[in-house]
Formats: sequence, C-alpha cells, structure tokens
Amino acid sequence: MANIDLASLDIRKAHLAMEKGEFSAVELAQAYLDVISEKNKEINAYLEVYDDVLDQAQKADEMRKAGKATMLTGIPFAIKDNILIKGKKASSASKILEGYTATYDATVIEKLKKEGVVFIGRTNMDEFALGGSTEKSAYGLTRNPHDTDRVPGGTSGGSAAAVASLMSLCALGSDTGGSVRQPASFCGVVGLKPTYGNVSRYGLIAAVSSFDQIGPITRNVSDAEIILSVIHGNDIHDGTTIQEGTYKPERIGKDRPVIGIPAAFLSQGGISKEVIENFHDSVDKLKKMGYVVLDIDLPNASYSLPVYYIINFAEVSSNLARFDGVRYGLHKDGNGGIDDYFATRGTGLGKEVRRRILLGTYVLSSGYYDAYYNRANALRKVIAQDFLNAYQKVDIILMPTAPSPAFKIGEKISDPVAMYLEDIFTVTANLTGMPAMSIPSGFAEIDGKRLPLGIQMTARHGDEKSLFQAGKEFLGEQ
Ligand code: GLN
Repeated sequence: MANIDLASLDIRKAHLAMEKGEFSAVELAQAYLDVISEKNKEINAYLEVYDDVLDQAQKADEMRKAGKATMLTGIPFAIKDNILIKGKKASSASKILEGYTATYDATVIEKLKKEGVVFIGRTNMDEFALGGSTEKSAYGLTRNPHDTDRVPGGTSGGSAAAVASLMSLCALGSDTGGSVRQPASFCGVVGLKPTYGNVSRYGLIAAVSSFDQIGPITRNVSDAEIILSVIHGNDIHDGTTIQEGTYKPERIGKDRPVIGIPAAFLSQGGISKEVIENFHDSVDKLKKMGYVVLDIDLPNASYSLPVYYIINFAEVSSNLARFDGVRYGLHKDGNGGIDDYFATRGTGLGKEVRRRILLGTYVLSSGYYDAYYNRANALRKVIAQDFLNAYQKVDIILMPTAPSPAFKIGEKISDPVAMYLEDIFTVTANLTGMPAMSIPSGFAEIDGKRLPLGIQMTARHGDEKSLFQAGKEFLGEQ
C-alpha cells in the first residue's frame, strides 16, 4: 500500500502521482476512507460515505490505463447533501426528505462523472442551506476540525470540514449568501462562489434561486480553478446560466488586479479584533507584493443584510412549497387533505426553515409586498450599482470573509439575528451576482487553539480569473 501524504496533496500533485504510477485511484480513495473511519464519528462531516467508493476508483484506474484520464480522473470529491447524484440519497439535511433517492444527476455531477472523479459521500449542512453554522441539520451538527468545540461555519460546513480534516481532497458546496465562503474561512480552506449563472443549478435543491450557486471548496486556489473549468458552462436545463463571453470584464491593473477596500463599510461595529488585525496584515502583505490598494466607497452596502434576508425569506417560502409529502419524502397522516400537509410540514421541517417560510409569506403578502419585497429588490439594484461604480477604479474588492473566527457550538443558536450578522460581508456577492472567493489569511490564537481566518475577494461579473491570480499569489502558489 502506497504511503500517501494527504496533507501536502492537491489535484495537480495527485494527478501527476497517479500518472506516474506512484499510487492508484483505489489507493488514494482508501487513504481517505481510512481518515474517515478515524475522524468522521467525531467531526460528522459526512452524513453518508458511499459503499461504492472503491468501485468508482477502480473505474478511474481503468480509464487511466485506457489512456483516457483527465486532470480530475480518480480525484476524490465530497458532495453537499443538496446536490443530486442519481441513485444516491439526498436530503438537504431535512427530515422531510429522509429516504429520498435522486432520480437524476445534477449537471455538475454529470460533468464530474465524465472526468471519472470519485464521489466519497454526501456532506452535512444546515437544513435546506439556511443557516451559518451547520448546527441546523436534522442529522446532528458538524464540528470544526481546528477546535471541535466550535462550528465549522455553514451551510456547507460538512464539505469544508471534510476537506480541512483530510477526509476528502476537494468538495462541492452551494452558496446562497456565503455558505461556501464562510465555512471555508472557518476551516482554513479555499471557497469560491462563481459568477451567478456560470455554474448550472440544475439538480441543486433550491433555496433562493436568484442567489444560489454551486462552488468548489479546496485546499488551494489552483484546485478551485481546475474544478470551475470543468463544472462551469451554459446548460439547457438552467435558463439562468450564461453563455461563454456574456461578460467581457475589462481589467484596470494590467499586471496585477487593482484592489479596493471599502473602509467605511468595514469600520462598522461588530467585527472581532482578531479579524480586523488579520485583515490589516493581509492588506500590508498585498501591498508588499506590489498590489495597488485604493480606498473605495460602497455607500449602500450597509443595507445588504436586510435586503438579502427579505429576498431570502420570500424565495425560500415559494421554493419550499413543493415539499408537501405527497409525491416524495416524508408523509404524515393528519385528518386528510390540508391537514396531512400541516402534519407533514410541521414535523418534517425544522424551526429555522419554518421561521423563514412564515416571514417569506409575510413579505410577499398583499399589503406588505411593496413595502418589503419590492423595496428590497429595488435596493438590490442600487447596491449592485455601487459595486459597478467601484469597479470603475479597482478590479478586486477586498473584505474579511466573516466578522469573527469560528464561534462556539451553541453560541448563536438561539439568536437568529446574531447568526444572520455572520453574513454581513458575504451576501453582497449574491445580491450582485459577482464572483467571490475566500482564501485562508492566517490564524487567531483563541483559548489555546489556532483558529483559521479568511479574506474575501470579489470581482466583476465573469472575472474569476483576477480572483485566481491574486489568490494564488497571496498564498504563494505557482
Ligand atoms: N447564512 C446565510 C443564510 O442563512 C447563507 C446561507 C447560504 O449561503 N446557503 O441565508
């Protein structure tokens, strides 16, 4: 059995090692399965580890022998529990979808299958991707591998914890308001939310259709770039996907992207001192590397959070209406008719999900629609315009990813507003549809533990390239 150093591995290294015959896809998959059997009981990153992992890896090895291997052949992936893989369970971490088996592949899965990747299992999340800590799963919470008394972030907490604890080489998550980026920052890995429409949402269990994007969670920026190059693209099954060349981002900085800091937006209260310090250090590091850093103004960015949550509630209430227990998933008998529906949804949906459905129904109801939903949508455009104005003079907007390092399990569970405030910096990219990436930027020493921190780079629509360039340089990747 090959002795594989998982801690130093990335996609390119794993690919080259398999090409040279240093180890096979079966051996690589087995190495991750060994870590899983040691760690998953405590971390609970995976809700299910598939029973055909080694068979998939075997097929990848055969593909390689037949000379058909690509960069991703035999690469292990952990998949968030809201992305459908045909014949496998998918529950979006909800009781209402307990026992549901997907009848088709999500477009991203179809694309990855063609490459011969190895799906290790499905990862834990907050129910229906609503939350920020992976404590709101119907199947138990996930722990942060850096300090198991703390949350891994959310909602793609299982995917981020799996990559951070070497239980997978990479993962897919979904990001509606920060769910790829915030857990990536809490777990010390890279998380990318692509431009809205760059990656198909077909086969992703919908939360907020106008915000949702699937994105990679990886150990470095190059891996995120490789995965995006495979999963992106226009899709007949998702009318919101963009055609190649829809956006023609024009860079200002020719050698390096020019970086903008929204100093006024960042000077609001509620940001931990560790985050502020680390952010300043990161900016200094970029300046020393030769980056031009300018101050920019996002005058309406402070409305982002209320605007995001009003739209989130509204779309959640309408998207989740389909879970009625009639055609699939949990069914509870009441006294027949509408009463069955109440019984099913009352037991099958968790408290946070029900809260959002109620609030969403409220903001969409006649009399309040104009005051809340329409107003939020109008402000969404104003906020997007602020960003477009800023991109007249910079190429990347830099912020911390989250206002704090990973918090303690239970710390924010009974205070929804405290939990929502975690998303202050990440939601802007979902409101505007712009691409954003969280990269590790160091550690905070708290309670004798080293907790990872992250910085978030946002770019113009369609300009993931600038994120990759600056991200790789910041992390010292080739
Ligand atoms: N924390 C945010 C929310 O609860 C984001 C969730 C997500 O990105 N799926 O809505």
